[in-house]
Amino acid sequence: MAPDNLNQWQEYVKSLKIEGRAFINGGYTAAQSEKTFACINPANSEQIAQIAECEEADAEKAVQAASHSFEAGTWRNMAPKQRKQVLLKLAALMLEHRTELAALETLDMGKPISESYNVDIPGAAEVISWHAEAIDKIYDEVAPTEANVLATITREPIGVVAAITPWNFPLWIACWKIGPALAAGNSVVLKPSEKSSLTAIKLAQLASDAGIPDGVFNVVPGYGHTVGKALALHMQVDCLAFTGSTRIARQLMIYAGESNMKRVWLEAGGKNPNIVFADCADLDKAARSAASGCFYNQGEVCVAATRLLVERSIHDEFVEKVRQASQNFKPGDPLDPDTNMGALVDKQHQGSVLQYIDKGKQGGATLALGGKAALDVDKGAFVEPTIFTAVTNQMPIAREEIFGPVMSVIPFDDEQDAIAIANDSDYGLGAALWTASLSRAHKLSKQLRAGSVWINNYNDGDMTVPFGGFKQSGNGRDKSLHALEKYTELKTTWIELD
Ligand code: NAD
Repeated sequence: MAPDNLNQWQEYVKSLKIEGRAFINGGYTAAQSEKTFACINPANSEQIAQIAECEEADAEKAVQAASHSFEAGTWRNMAPKQRKQVLLKLAALMLEHRTELAALETLDMGKPISESYNVDIPGAAEVISWHAEAIDKIYDEVAPTEANVLATITREPIGVVAAITPWNFPLWIACWKIGPALAAGNSVVLKPSEKSSLTAIKLAQLASDAGIPDGVFNVVPGYGHTVGKALALHMQVDCLAFTGSTRIARQLMIYAGESNMKRVWLEAGGKNPNIVFADCADLDKAARSAASGCFYNQGEVCVAATRLLVERSIHDEFVEKVRQASQNFKPGDPLDPDTNMGALVDKQHQGSVLQYIDKGKQGGATLALGGKAALDVDKGAFVEPTIFTAVTNQMPIAREEIFGPVMSVIPFDDEQDAIAIANDSDYGLGAALWTASLSRAHKLSKQLRAGSVWINNYNDGDMTVPFGGFKQSGNGRDKSLHALEKYTELKTTWIELD
């Protein structure tokens, strides 16, 4: 039984034995240098664990382990239905260890325990089981050639995949990469964010317990860019699967060009427009969605609804509804199951979000809600849900990814004005439209330059649909069968029959 109140969760986390070492070639190991770094709980600045501070030598060991396992073929040559069984076992073990994984996620990066437990961990397990279930149902192709030829088009695993992942949905996003990469038969080296390594480290043990052969799945934590850079430059890494900032995404393309032209798949930042027309059939629902779309996960979401575009005729009425709905988001102790807004990932990030809030005020926007640090201001990294009105799309708070609970409200006059503002961004990850007109919805969704468009909802979806960005939000897609395209190469085999 999972703990069901704050006291029980506090007692539970005291009993945890937290592993902080790397996992290479089937076992836990300290960094070769034996260096570690502190893992800090952002809700109270207390140390949770020491994490192995891996460096180039450790990355090298992990890549060698992955490369040997791939060459040996134990995993890649296993029948898809057998890989399926192992991955289904892994998903089951993740659910069995759901309480522990949820506690680690919340302690590590500050998200509410109710979300870790009810959304992130089951979501991550579902990604693994979804790809497991899919992999023995995918057929290859036979080309429509002339009669004396048989030409097959087959998909093969790409080799060693390095996954470099962020801290906002640590386990879930890692599984977006690991699920399809392992299902397709690759060997993987995962480098989690230094701000959230714990669930990845635990996942490695579960994967081994499930029957993933030694060397096929390795986890190499590290501080700063060292391990990620070593993987990105490595000549035996065949594919880089990244989620993180656009700044680092750009750098990874350079590393790939400087090394072996490894495939580079990038899920990067966003500054997503949420467009509300006056003909929206349910403004109350739209207001609740605008608030949750922006403040869910403390606003640390790549597809957060950070730019709220409102048709001028309903602007004041709608903004008031959004303000009220946003007041339901109250920063609280992340371990309290009643908390719906936790701590930001660390004090440094809190400082950066507060600086953006200052920029908003100085730049002439009007502060309509929040705007300050909250709760334990000295030791916790909490920020109030914050809304700015009178924002123009040229202000830094409308152009740059803040990655915190800050909404910018921008009025618009008509359809073309809305689309022009929405598309005037370096990013193109998500966008939403609220309208009762089906033809307007179809017409405008085609004009929005974004990888996902939501009509009369914000950020709904499931594993059946791909997720990723246009423009500087990245390339390639996570989720759905399309994710497999990143982790496989197409092979043509042309056979002369006569
Ligand atoms: P980040 O770019 O700072 O770090 C991401 C990962 O890259 C971390 O593991 C980090 O250690 C590693 N890294 C840092 N420097 C590196 C280098 N030079 N070489 C190789 N690896 C390096 O991002 P973050 O702060 O962890 O995450 C927040 C960002 O992630 C936001 O921009 C957000 O929009 C983005 N994000 C995107 C999606 C998406 O699907 N598009 C989803 C979630 C988050």
